[in-house]
Amino acid sequence: MPRIINFSAGPSILPQTVFEQASQAVLNLNNSGLSILEISHRSSYFEPILHEAGQLVRDLLGLTDEFEVLFLSGGASTQFFMTVMNLLPEGQKAAYVDTGVWSSKAINEAKILGSIDVIASSKDANYNYIPKGYKIASDYAYLHLTSNNTIYGTQYQSFPESPIPIVCDMSSDIFSKPIEPHRFGLIYGGAQKNLGPAGVTLVIVRKDMLGKVNKTLPTMLRYETHIQNESMYNTPPVFPIYVSMLTLRWLRDLGGLTAMQKINERKAKYLYDVIDAIPFYLGHSVPEDRSRMNVTFNLEDNSLSKEFQAFCEEAGCDGLKGHKSVGGFRASIYNAMPEEGVKVLAEVMKEFALKHA
Ligand SMILES: *Cc1c(COP(=O)(O)O)cnc(C)c1O
Repeated sequence: MPRIINFSAGPSILPQTVFEQASQAVLNLNNSGLSILEISHRSSYFEPILHEAGQLVRDLLGLTDEFEVLFLSGGASTQFFMTVMNLLPEGQKAAYVDTGVWSSKAINEAKILGSIDVIASSKDANYNYIPKGYKIASDYAYLHLTSNNTIYGTQYQSFPESPIPIVCDMSSDIFSKPIEPHRFGLIYGGAQKNLGPAGVTLVIVRKDMLGKVNKTLPTMLRYETHIQNESMYNTPPVFPIYVSMLTLRWLRDLGGLTAMQKINERKAKYLYDVIDAIPFYLGHSVPEDRSRMNVTFNLEDNSLSKEFQAFCEEAGCDGLKGHKSVGGFRASIYNAMPEEGVKVLAEVMKEFALKHA
């Protein structure tokens, strides 16, 4: 049976070869006679996996030794407060930009623990753009941004010139294109959008960001704990790390982030071209801030929504229902979505519009 074309926002599609390799490892990891699900995280089986995953993260993103790479639990949502606890010294403030639900959640957590200013927001237009041109004072401890707004389909095409380190939630576009690591003090992301299965959170932290907070934190909530113990203070999510490592290998083998970016730009263009050519479809994001990962749109005639969804499903396209805060539809076209899959959706959209012209 052919696979469904999965446009789900997360957990989401992974490369087919990764599914195959991962399922083999569940039965027999590298001919060890053991399942990846039953090995000790302290065994000689897991150690090279964790090491390779970390090295691939470094190689793909071009990280220097100033950065530590951690594989943690708790999702991006735990990083909303762990960043504040570890990076915001008492008596100092942090700056936040509000670009939607996820950044608002980060802001709410930060307010519980410290003092912050929201220095820009696109709430006034239901987050259909990325704020620009705001001033960033140099006395903030850091600037928190959300690089890709999964729900609204907006994405930073470039990051603001910031006099302070950027702390960035990259959950839904990490590894989709090259970044300039030196602009960031900390990068975090749940794996389940563009890296692997749910259950592991990637955290990349520049060492000089740490050691500025005097308060004693619970052991599990200190980045230093995880750095000293190489992500093995407690049992790490072994299987999600393994699958993430497979995905990173796949990414390396197709040419790394520059190659991936080109593919992602082509994929997004198929859909935005349809949205721009056919007034029947209304894109949510302003054109200059459009996401290459989540393409959000409404139908001009909302009463056709159910029929459109059924039409897509009949063509094998699944997971297109938009988030409730935007409505309409969202095609999530992460790294692993094949170009062919996006072309099918673009054709389906054209056909449906013709049918109702
Ligand atoms: C999905 C998502 C989150 C939430 O991640 P969890 O791992 O479920 O906590 C946070 N930020 C962004 C940008 C997301 O897309």
